[in-house]
Amino acid sequence: MTIRHLILVLGDQLSHDNPALAGFDPSQDRILMVEAPSEARQVWSHKARIALFLSTMRHFAAELVAQGWPVDYLQLGLHPHASLMEAWVATISRLVPEQVIVCEPGEWRLEQALQALTRDTGVPVVQRPDSHFIASREAFLRWAGDRPTLLMEHFYRSMRKQHRVLMEGDGPAGGVWNFDKDNRQGFGRAGPTRVPTPPAFAPDDITRQVLAEVEAHFSDHPGSLAHFAWPVTRDDALAALGAFVRDRLPGFGSHQDAMWTGEPFLWHSLLAPALNLKLLDPREVIRAAEAAWQQGHAPLPAVEGFIRQILGWREFIRGVYWRDQPGIGEANHFGHTRPLPAWFWTGETRMNCQRQVIRQTLDHGYAHHIQRLMVTGNFALLAGLSPQAVAAWFLAVYVDAVEWVELPNVAGMALYANGGRFTSKPYVASGAYIKRMSNYCAGCSYSAEVRTGPRACPVTTFYWNFIDRHEASLATNPRALLMVKNLHRLSEDERTAIRQEASRLATHLEHL
Ligand SMILES: Cc1cc2nc3c(=O)[nH]c(=O)nc-3n(C[C@H](O)[C@H](O)[C@H](O)COP(=O)(O)OP(=O)(O)OC[C@H]3O[C@@H](n4cnc5c(N)ncnc54)[C@H](O)[C@@H]3O)c2cc1C
Ligand code: SF4
Repeated sequence: MTIRHLILVLGDQLSHDNPALAGFDPSQDRILMVEAPSEARQVWSHKARIALFLSTMRHFAAELVAQGWPVDYLQLGLHPHASLMEAWVATISRLVPEQVIVCEPGEWRLEQALQALTRDTGVPVVQRPDSHFIASREAFLRWAGDRPTLLMEHFYRSMRKQHRVLMEGDGPAGGVWNFDKDNRQGFGRAGPTRVPTPPAFAPDDITRQVLAEVEAHFSDHPGSLAHFAWPVTRDDALAALGAFVRDRLPGFGSHQDAMWTGEPFLWHSLLAPALNLKLLDPREVIRAAEAAWQQGHAPLPAVEGFIRQILGWREFIRGVYWRDQPGIGEANHFGHTRPLPAWFWTGETRMNCQRQVIRQTLDHGYAHHIQRLMVTGNFALLAGLSPQAVAAWFLAVYVDAVEWVELPNVAGMALYANGGRFTSKPYVASGAYIKRMSNYCAGCSYSAEVRTGPRACPVTTFYWNFIDRHEASLATNPRALLMVKNLHRLSEDERTAIRQEASRLATHLEHL
């Protein structure tokens, strides 16, 4: 048997606008989709993350089949191939295509594998540019030029101008580019009120089957499937977008950084999994948010704050990933080597902030940005955990985790492991920040303000120890100077006590 084109559809390329499907001719082409065990086991994935990929892939394949297109779908447990590569090679030798066509993958590792596929089989593999992103890889590199440090804010403004998003004439809508100062409020003692409930997508037959298979094949993996209610089709994803814009976008901005026990979702969009699997196009998400402002449904600070995440951060991070790989995966600016304490996989720690965020993560496969950056990420940096171990954890435990977005966020934003390629200083905070932005400290056996002694908050102790250790380099950074000035308020005795406390805590990470 020979065919014209074999089209590879990867697990995070589940869009009918996938450029690899352009010009598809069902009479001479075939599609190949593979559920590879090695992909589910590449890191110790949360069960919900595996289930989301598999269910969304199966729904997408069913839609292709329903429109009469031939699909070879290799289902987990029903084929002999351990890896994507093995499945691709076997299918190519069976179908002997003239060409293999695929949309450029999101991951550096898979791009390498696709290049090797041409070498191994002799069949040309054509990678078509990924049209999902608003800025192509080449456009980002042109924008970045040879600047050693990139600032998201500059990129975001150029994207706003170029794509005419939230613009009035040549200037930003409302006269300012950035409403961050309106968007950083905590909840105060009373906590959040009238938090809208996000839509839950009840598992259908396909999803129920997947959930059962995941429980059977990956029973030893972390996380729960009990709350699985993520969108797994484009229709679901559009409904999720509509519900977010209607119910939560108007409140998105003001408490974007705040955290509260028992409120995992607050006003966040929960759209990252649907975006990353390509059920949603970022342009339509941005248009929907902008229209809500134009129609008077949502205030400008909320809409700007949200659009900044998609048009700014998401596109920027993807550009950075491709610019800096493979180095970003190996980066370790501070030389941190401590292994992850086991409680990262269970939430069994006395630090209530870590316990709440990790338990929520295990229950839902979800935590919002500040929980990732300023709770678990902050602790990982302050405690000197190995960036590679931390990156593997973040890739494993979130339903929206794909490497192109996860790795720069972990290595670049949370851990400063890349030495500040796109952040002006390490994002570190003491327990006082967590206390201000959440109610976690109220339920904790430590005290956020205490630096040493039995009640000392480990986050706070590690924070002051970090500033103490890096005093010289932080003092040369104008954005970090305030932290150093605050350190200078401590007496030499206090600084010595903090050093001793931090080294004691470091030997007890498992028991904090
Ligand atoms: C350590 C760390 C690891 C992260 N890992 C991932 C990951 O694996 N996958 C992922 O999609 N995001 C990741 N993020 C970014 C961000 O935390 C998530 O996109 C967000 O929490 C997803 O929830 P949401 O859809 O409710 O987002 P919202 O708060 O509603 O934000 C809207 C959208 O903006 C985009 N966005 C927001 N912040 C970022 C960012 N920093 N980088 C890129 N896109 C952003 C996302 O698409 C998100 O859906 C990570 C952040 C940190 C600090
Ligand atoms: S006191 Fe410290 S460890 Fe406890 S919740 Fe607050 S910040 Fe976290």
